[in-house]
Amino acid sequence: MPRDPVLKGPDPGEGAPEETPVAAGPDGAFDPDDGHLDEQLRPLTLDDVVGQDKVVERLRIVLEAAKLRGDPLSHLLLDGPPGIGKTTLATVLPRELGVDVQITSGPSLSAPKDLLPYLTNAGRGSVLFIDEIHRLPPTVEEFIYPAMEDFRIDITLGEGLNARTINMQLEPFTLIGATTRSGMLTAPLRDRFVNREHLDFYDVDDVMEIIQRNARKLRAKIEDGAALAIASRSRGVPRKANNLLRWTRDFADAGRHPEITDALATEALAMLEVDELGLDSLDCKYLQILATVFGGGPAGMQAIAHSLNIAGETIEDEVEPFLLRVGFVQRTPRGRMITQAALQHMGLSLDGEPDESQGQLFD
Ligand code: ADP
Repeated sequence: MPRDPVLKGPDPGEGAPEETPVAAGPDGAFDPDDGHLDEQLRPLTLDDVVGQDKVVERLRIVLEAAKLRGDPLSHLLLDGPPGIGKTTLATVLPRELGVDVQITSGPSLSAPKDLLPYLTNAGRGSVLFIDEIHRLPPTVEEFIYPAMEDFRIDITLGEGLNARTINMQLEPFTLIGATTRSGMLTAPLRDRFVNREHLDFYDVDDVMEIIQRNARKLRAKIEDGAALAIASRSRGVPRKANNLLRWTRDFADAGRHPEITDALATEALAMLEVDELGLDSLDCKYLQILATVFGGGPAGMQAIAHSLNIAGETIEDEVEPFLLRVGFVQRTPRGRMITQAALQHMGLSLDGEPDESQGQLFD
């Protein structure tokens, strides 16, 4: 049986993977600053994807099976913290399959009509990527169920007595959803994803490899020690590694240095106020406020967020996961508590004085 041309993988001799159409959604869903750098450095094939070995292994299998059968890939949910590679995988997979991808995000789909063009434009076997899918409003979520299950949408025309519903058949497509908060996804939506993968933080070796590869893409020469210095401050997050790499490269270029040496990287990173564990000024402020304003806790997340004057979601998604991971904060039923390790690292005591007294406070 001839294979569906849309599902055909790219011909080996065809060359540039850039030729795979990657259509941004009509609303252009990405932050322009980060987005530009992300696009420039994003892996194009599964072979370029560093780390996440088990996830990649499983994805290779579903990819291969879909290719062999000529079927669309089953719907896939990717969850994990920001900057960890969800969009990367969501664009690499269609590229590997040689199919189109449309990209949008939960917050930009405020009503079913916003989703409609994506669904009707989706060609057979193509991929629709919805970033931050946990932020889909309930009406859009319900609209998407039959599209995911039966490749069908129900459209209501007219109002009141004259209202009628028409069913519209769609081409079989793949929905790839990405979320930083899988817990906020409703069970019916989560259950409609056949494949679900969690992306975890990367170890320092993997981040170092990403930095070295990306330095080559940016045509920057970098010493191993400098790549290691950046990797160990990246908190296991490739996007952070990319941002630190870009900064150190700017620092080297501005000083007319032909190579990012160990010493140069250390100087550049110190100037950025990222400490050797990767804590940035926001993390330090969080810990300082928890120690001083809240006496070490327990303190509610929203109360800390208000004191910092930033959104609770930012705290939960971008600050706390790392602080919890390194054991600087504990989440208790009564709220967040600072740990002694954090006080030691920060040289703080619970009253904001230098650290002589901190030992006894936890005894
Ligand atoms: P997310 O969608 O989870 O926020 P992205 O996929 O946009 O994160 O990743 C941000 C950037 O980090 C990418 O552009 C890419 O340069 C890099 N990156 C992420 N994951 C990997 C990986 N596994 N291997 C190599 N680079 C990666």
